[in-house]
Amino acid sequence: MTENTVTATADVLKGLDAWKSLPIKQQPAWPDAAVLDAVTAELAKLPPLVFAGEVDQLKDRLARVARGDAFLLQGGDCAETFDGATADKIRNRVKTILQMAVVLTYGAAMPVVKMGRMAGQFAKPRSSDSETRDGVTLPAYRGDIVNGYDFTEESRTADPHRIVQGYHTAASTLNLIRAFTQGGFADLREVHSWNKGFAENPANKRYEQLAKDIDRAIKFMAAAGADFESLKTVEFYSSHEGLLMDYERPMTRIDSRTGNPYNTSAHFLWIGERTRDLDGAHIDFFSRIQNPIGVKLGPKTTGDDVKKLIDILDPNREPGRLTFITRMGAGVIRDALPPLLEVVRDSDALPVWVTDPMHGNGITTPNGYKTRRFDDVVDEVKGFFEAHRQVGTFPGGIHVELTGDDVTECLGGSEMIDEETLASRYESLCDPRLNHKQSLELAFLVAEEIASGN
Ligand code: PEP
Ligand code: MN
Repeated sequence: MTENTVTATADVLKGLDAWKSLPIKQQPAWPDAAVLDAVTAELAKLPPLVFAGEVDQLKDRLARVARGDAFLLQGGDCAETFDGATADKIRNRVKTILQMAVVLTYGAAMPVVKMGRMAGQFAKPRSSDSETRDGVTLPAYRGDIVNGYDFTEESRTADPHRIVQGYHTAASTLNLIRAFTQGGFADLREVHSWNKGFAENPANKRYEQLAKDIDRAIKFMAAAGADFESLKTVEFYSSHEGLLMDYERPMTRIDSRTGNPYNTSAHFLWIGERTRDLDGAHIDFFSRIQNPIGVKLGPKTTGDDVKKLIDILDPNREPGRLTFITRMGAGVIRDALPPLLEVVRDSDALPVWVTDPMHGNGITTPNGYKTRRFDDVVDEVKGFFEAHRQVGTFPGGIHVELTGDDVTECLGGSEMIDEETLASRYESLCDPRLNHKQSLELAFLVAEEIASGN
């Protein structure tokens, strides 16, 4: 190493800690600073979960999305849990995303970049720091990487050891994802046969034609001598909200090839609606790493916010670097999104635009369940496509909270889940997720929407 590279690296490292002197939101109150220091020092020595070359490859894939040549599908739990990191649940989620991706690939007639809200989605921002039940007030649940969900003082006290447990749970989850997506499970013909099963169900009659069309396309590929061996593996990327700085900072390492910092906890990190203050800690930290970065944009976002976010997070105007994930609400998106799209269209930046049709559409039922209506989710997605058609920009993808299991957390869909049914299998500790069938149904509807615009 030359003296110059040593100084450059020292500067980069100093920059990576600049967030420490900036205003920061949504961090836990750790009870014991010495334990926290020991834990973060341990984490900093553990192997990276992802490799810089993979992160660069994802940026290239997202650049294709930005240019309108590919589509992004990002999905998974609102909050992963340590208990939920089982083989069955991970397999079902990967399977659901692969099934959706096949439908979308056909509908869009373009490659679909597949990304899980998986292997690290353990930290949650909360609207209140505390929760009161029957006169007892305790710290809010901030995700398994911080504290426990049980409503006791012991469980709700932030425990730094959970950070290392989060790392190991992410590592084993990612290991299984890699096995599934590289080891033959993702075989296109197999995934399509699962979709046929879905579309043959009488409740899903309206998707049968599209499934048949895909079937013919696959038969055509076979007849034309397509190499199905190569379609047995898929690229699959990991992502989570970059929120808990005591996890994100120790997982950020200097790449020995380039001297640049990469967050090795996931391929893609997004900054949440509550922590994207322009002069806050999160924006500063994530502006300094090489990974592709997402930012959630709520209904109150202004064109000026968007311009400033671009200047800070994508100063080199690098397609694939920045993804805007809009979460406006079905009733608002048609008014709130077009002005933002116009500002960006008329600028020199080319971010990816993704719709999160979940977080602007939350309701609470009279019997106390946090839920979302499937129809609102679909309506927001339609509003997203309409806004892009109107402005002439590219609707790059969807970001959804989903699970591969048959839970009953969102209302509606072809199974017509109603308010009474919510209680039968409501498992999310945080926001309600589309279940397996609702997720597939959404994919079929989005595929129709894209195909109708082509
Ligand atoms: C989330 O994605 O679970 C979330 C909290 O989103 P947002 O920051 O958009 O509210
Ligand atoms: Mn959520």
